[in-house]
Amino acid sequence: MKFDTKLIRAGITPDPTTGAILPPIFQTATYVLEEIGKDKGYDYTRSANPTREVLENNLASIEDGKYGVCFSSGMSAVDSILKLFSSGDHVVCSDDVYGGVSRLFNNLLVNYDLTFTYVNSSDPKNVEDAIQSNTKMIWVETPTNPLLKITDLEAVSKIAKKHDIIFGVDSTFATPALLKPFEFDVNLVMHSTTKYLSGHNQIIGGIVITNDESMYEKLKFVQKTVGAVPSPFDCWLTLLGIKTLSLRMERHCQNALAVAEFLEAHSKVEKVTYPGLKSHPQHHIAVSQMKGFSGMISMELKGGIPAGVKLMNSVKLCSLAESLGAVETMITHPATMTHVDVPKDERLARGLTDGLVRLSVGIEDVEDIITDLKMGLDAIV
Ligand code: PLP
Repeated sequence: MKFDTKLIRAGITPDPTTGAILPPIFQTATYVLEEIGKDKGYDYTRSANPTREVLENNLASIEDGKYGVCFSSGMSAVDSILKLFSSGDHVVCSDDVYGGVSRLFNNLLVNYDLTFTYVNSSDPKNVEDAIQSNTKMIWVETPTNPLLKITDLEAVSKIAKKHDIIFGVDSTFATPALLKPFEFDVNLVMHSTTKYLSGHNQIIGGIVITNDESMYEKLKFVQKTVGAVPSPFDCWLTLLGIKTLSLRMERHCQNALAVAEFLEAHSKVEKVTYPGLKSHPQHHIAVSQMKGFSGMISMELKGGIPAGVKLMNSVKLCSLAESLGAVETMITHPATMTHVDVPKDERLARGLTDGLVRLSVGIEDVEDIITDLKMGLDAIV
């Protein structure tokens, strides 16, 4: 099956009892055994659920991977990956990861004697230089949240292989419609399914995909032991969203490029970052490894925080909201919203200035989005 067909069909067969074209929502906690030791492959929904399995198989297939393990959020997916390691282990991580990921690493996992080194992974040399004798994983987001830095997956994958280290990629911003990390021989691909994959701001969820059977077994063990599993209904809603991923991503990419070009030409905007613009420092890498540049833009306004506050309080169509990757255009202030728990010094050192504004460009008519942003920018004195 080609990609667009897989989105709609992979792992989905008509329900054997009714012929229902969509998988049933198996909203059950437990399953009745025929006799001791004889079940139908399910005993308790924390361990396995048929609706969840359809989603796991569908997502593994569209990512060109073998095994998928679903979690109740992107964060529990990341946390479960980190449970593959032991105290004393070290991780090299992109310096511009989502604030919730660095909060997990710096405020919780350090208490279990895991250590982290943050590097600008858009230069592979920084990644290699940070490797220590106890480094067990390289963890990158590409593009990163919110500065949209791109990591050269081929180069970093070679480094991981050379040092025999697991290479994990958070591909939430790119989605399998635009980037296939397994083509670069990575070990783990993770998504917050809350974002583009479900696409309609309807659920919170996460997935980890791997080709490695032993890593899959370990992740399944974490899933059933910790129990951070999505509800069957959330799995079903995610499956519904995935069907239109290609169409949505095409429109997200088109709209975002038009918005980025509009913003780049605007006198009140200091700097626009979008991987699809020639001015993006890793534009050439994005062109070589991605099919499109997704719907995320970050920008710095002339006039810093007051200008940003004015813009965000003036727009009407763009929703002032934490999340991203849905059909609605959303505008965010990372310093006070998504990255509020990153200490100020660290935030500024990472280039996450107080005046940074992040836009998740939706799939509304692009003229309406631009008109709204123009009105907001005009309101800045
Ligand atoms: N990874 C990235 C790149 C994100 O942007 C987010 C959330 O914004 C997460 C992980 C965490 O996902 P969730 O909010 O589903 O827990």
